[in-house]
Amino acid sequence: MTKRALVCGAGISGLTAGIYLTRLGWDVTVFEKDPELRTAGAGLNLWPNGLRVLEKIGLRSALATVATSLDYYRTFSSTGDVIAVEDVRNWREKYGAPLCGIYRRDLSRILVEALGSEKLRVGHQLVSVEQDDDVVCTFANGESARGDLVLGADGIGSIVRASIFGEQEFSTDVLVRWRGLFNLADVDVDPLSEAEVWGEDGHLGYLPIGGGRAYWFAAADGITHDPDAVIGHFSGWRGSPVPGLIAATDKSTIIRSDLHDFVRPLDNWSQGRVTLAGDAAHPMLPGMAQGANQALEDIDALCMSLDAHDDVGSALEAYERIRIRQVAPIVRGSRSLFDFDDQNELVHGNKNPLFDRYERFVERRGGTTGTSAA
Ligand SMILES: Cc1cc2nc3c(=O)[nH]c(=O)nc-3n(C[C@H](O)[C@H](O)[C@H](O)COP(=O)(O)OP(=O)(O)OC[C@H]3O[C@@H](n4cnc5c(N)ncnc54)[C@H](O)[C@@H]3O)c2cc1C
Repeated sequence: MTKRALVCGAGISGLTAGIYLTRLGWDVTVFEKDPELRTAGAGLNLWPNGLRVLEKIGLRSALATVATSLDYYRTFSSTGDVIAVEDVRNWREKYGAPLCGIYRRDLSRILVEALGSEKLRVGHQLVSVEQDDDVVCTFANGESARGDLVLGADGIGSIVRASIFGEQEFSTDVLVRWRGLFNLADVDVDPLSEAEVWGEDGHLGYLPIGGGRAYWFAAADGITHDPDAVIGHFSGWRGSPVPGLIAATDKSTIIRSDLHDFVRPLDNWSQGRVTLAGDAAHPMLPGMAQGANQALEDIDALCMSLDAHDDVGSALEAYERIRIRQVAPIVRGSRSLFDFDDQNELVHGNKNPLFDRYERFVERRGGTTGTSAA
């Protein structure tokens, strides 16, 4: 009999799970609380580990039409000195996929098209999950749905997680990231490079995301609420490309995000036939730009496990056994990269620690290459 999956949340995790499970023969419904999919947000850095999953489920050509495949990742000081240049042009050969920038709205559209809008139920805010012979989701609009599996892909404030593990304690240090959009035609930067610029009291990175657009992400000590303070602070990083791209930014595109991870990571992600993926399972700071990429790896591991086990509960146990161990160092590594003192490592070592961490924690974890999973 065809198994039924109830996926809660239509972010990157939920939409990808919907596509993947459909391809494995499951009857899938994706429930989203909002009346329409969120199209806000800037860009996203897709690393080979995440991109391999999207390509595995058939999205390579669709992504190629909108994403920018990058040639270099440059690191500068806030006065414009070049600290490191990482040549990533051979990453398709080396890791099976390139380093990319993509506009979040484009990725969301591609995922919904691949899923099929008939499988997506917007305006369905999950309020509870129960398990009897089936797993049962109840929604705020009074509807309910029965299935053989519930996937909590409902983000950092997950109701699915709360229903199986209760409330969790989040980090309380005030960490904020600012983002803004600009057009590449308005600035003098390499249109095929991502860059990070490090100063004593903050950092700013930028990357192209297709369609002539680019976005920057930034954090600065003490600047937590005022976008004008962001503009003022980074406009002073003369000698680097930063003042130029701040000047080219339409102020209305500047957004701020509070950043949190768990005080203690979850010991388990599943209970019975209910499990978690993405930010619902492991919220992380964006230091390694891995939140969405790890979410995609979750979905790959989950779906492979469901395909390999007849019993859903056994599949979920195998899934979390693999992924909890793999994600842990990335959550820790992402937090430590948020410490601007790490710039010392940069300045003295003439390298960006991001690449060493990506290689060790993602591509060569446990002595095997991550590419073999794809
Ligand atoms: C500033 C910043 C920059 C980042 N940059 C990167 C990057 O470059 N690369 C990268 O890999 N990651 C990055 N991340 C992390 C990445 O954005 C997240 O890890 C990723 O979006 C998580 O996807 P998700 O689908 O698990 O959760 P979400 O994107 O949060 O999606 C959850 C979905 O569930 C829905 N939902 C919530 N509650 C309910 C409910 N009760 N019922 C039904 N639906 C519900 C929500 O509306 C939403 O649509 C960044 C994060 C931040 C904050």
